[in-house]
Amino acid sequence: MYHHIKKLMYTVKVGTPNVGFGNMLLEQFGGANGELAAAMQYTIQGWNCVDDLARRDLLLDIGTEELSHLEVVGALIRMHLKPLKENREAAEADPLLRIAGGGGIALVNSTGNAWTGDYLKITGELDVDLRSNIAAESRAKIVYERLINYTDDPGTIDTLQFLMTREITHLKAFSAALESLEKSPFSIGRLAVTPTIVDEYFNASTGDGDEGDTDMHGPWQTSFGLHPAESQMNGGKGLSIGAIDGIAGPEDRGKQDSGQKATTATSVKTVDPKPIPKHEDAKQQGRQATLADEGVSNGNQRVAPKSAASGLKQNGSSEKQNGSSEKTTAGTGSHKRS
Ligand code: MN
Ligand code: MN
Repeated sequence: MYHHIKKLMYTVKVGTPNVGFGNMLLEQFGGANGELAAAMQYTIQGWNCVDDLARRDLLLDIGTEELSHLEVVGALIRMHLKPLKENREAAEADPLLRIAGGGGIALVNSTGNAWTGDYLKITGELDVDLRSNIAAESRAKIVYERLINYTDDPGTIDTLQFLMTREITHLKAFSAALESLEKSPFSIGRLAVTPTIVDEYFNASTGDGDEGDTDMHGPWQTSFGLHPAESQMNGGKGLSIGAIDGIAGPEDRGKQDSGQKATTATSVKTVDPKPIPKHEDAKQQGRQATLADEGVSNGNQRVAPKSAASGLKQNGSSEKQNGSSEKTTAGTGSHKRS
């Protein structure tokens, strides 16, 4: 349930309105990295996140704050666009907003393109979504920073400073949520990747360019187990494509990345199912009471938590997570970071 309170999250004051700057600000209203995109991305991720109620709460806290940011930046834009209604010259400079939109704010970006749900990154895989959110906050921060560089109006700068700062707050919270999943940083999904080829850094751009660019070296070639592989074009062996064995059995394919599943899906079909922990909160609230509380349904087969957990290598520790009743499956395995 949403409830509107007639109070802005930050009081907006504009000294001298500037229609051109109002147009630039629309990038944070109806643009790809704007507040509506952030609000919808986190909120819809949260609505989908029914098997991690702690992080669901995080997503809905921040998604809702972004909606409040939309209201703040919308108020700021409306004040800057005010001359559109009073001044013929200003109206002629932006007929879309004046003639079609009446001179108010519209759900478009700084070049007048309509907002689209295509801006949203929602995979339904919680750790992957959190990475998308970390990137989204970083982009929002840099856009606010650039906007601040194009205004001298103190009230406007204050508002943008508030909004820019909150993006870093969110960046911290999403980063902590990702870290607290205790997944190995390169463990995405469940299927194991192929050894050998996964560590080959392919030197695919070689030779000297006109702008002084040449074949360079850096830690991206040798960190995390990586090593350079030269192309056949340069007399090298190329990638070890022979190592790929797509018909390896599901046990072989599933072994390496058998860390705790961080999915938001309610019923997960994987080769290596993780038991979904009990959700006492969900039962109390009744809303998610349809969730399995003894295990996850895997196709036709119902897998009990204990049998599914036995023999699994575990990425995380066996500590309780997040202070809730959720517990990771037995921490018998090693925690490899490379
Ligand atoms: Mn925001
Ligand atoms: Mn944010």
